[in-house]
Amino acid sequence: MNNSTKIIVAIDGFSSSGKSTMARRLASAVGYRYIDSGAMYRAVALYALESGLVDVAGNVDVPGLVAALPQINVDFEPQPDGMQHTLLNGRDVESEIRQLRVSDVVSPVAAIPEVRHRLTAIQQQFGKERGIVMDGRDIGTTVFPDAELKIYVDASAQTRAQRRFMELVEKGSSVTYAEVLANVMHRDSIDCNRAESPLRRAGDAISLDNSEMTIEEQDAWLIDKFNGVIESLSKS
Ligand code: C5P
Repeated sequence: MNNSTKIIVAIDGFSSSGKSTMARRLASAVGYRYIDSGAMYRAVALYALESGLVDVAGNVDVPGLVAALPQINVDFEPQPDGMQHTLLNGRDVESEIRQLRVSDVVSPVAAIPEVRHRLTAIQQQFGKERGIVMDGRDIGTTVFPDAELKIYVDASAQTRAQRRFMELVEKGSSVTYAEVLANVMHRDSIDCNRAESPLRRAGDAISLDNSEMTIEEQDAWLIDKFNGVIESLSKS
């Protein structure tokens, strides 16, 4: 292998652990494509909400949603500023999918095996040529068990809720910190306890607790791990 070797970087962790920021910044620094797998689950949850296939309490019409899956297309569109926007059947839903009403129902939707199988297949397609950084819950365990670099990010629920709360407030949302903390803890519990590919640290993942780290410290930590993998592959 040589220096042009392209690898897959899988970054998993709890909601609002900062993994998307890390993943996006690494992808941009090394010229890889970034895929936010959570955005894909959020887009399916938005579809379900709009079609009346899930209620605001998260009760899903499972047969109805499974039947609708062939009509749900999720993709990403690169933006001039280097970000990517999520498309649901061609419609830009990037800001809608971040709303708390979607966060409130996404985990029950993501627990449905058929939903996971469909999105996993699309995610694997994105990684076919490698050269990708993907973040989520099951990337290192289920989507790309052969990823060359796997990171498992953790931080306390309070730290994560505070980050998410600040993001939502900056976007003009009128949520309270208590609502965000309740949502984060609720999703943690569903994501860890579901039967189909629950959130787990892959045995070969490197753990990172970034509660006390700045974004720049995280970037430096991650690029160091990335360079280490590239270097060891180029020697083999
Ligand atoms: O990453 P984010 O918090 O935006 O993900 C939203 C939700 O999508 C998670 O709470 C989880 O239920 C689901 N998800 C998943 N598997 C992934 C990514 C996200 O189940 N790979």
